[in-house]
Amino acid sequence: MNATVPLAVDLSPRRLRLQWPEGSAELPATALRAACRCGPCRARALRGEPAADDAVELIHAEPVGRYALQLIFSDGHDRGIYPWTLLQALSV
Ligand SMILES: [Zn+2]
Repeated sequence: MNATVPLAVDLSPRRLRLQWPEGSAELPATALRAACRCGPCRARALRGEPAADDAVELIHAEPVGRYALQLIFSDGHDRGIYPWTLLQALSV
């Protein structure tokens, strides 16, 4: 299966900007933090607890192979792996 890969990725503290073949999208840091799929975050979401405070910022984005982006947040969270398919789903 061939996942769509963004043409460009631009990181700033408050948002991640993705250029997809069909258009660009801006994903707020808070929304990305809330969408984290790592074990502790899934468990927290199941308990109905909020992900992080609204001031959370993006520190760094690291490519993971050709399929995902690892996002590092200002609250110290660095476990989040965001497959392109997830980021594309969040872009709509
Ligand atoms: Zn997480």
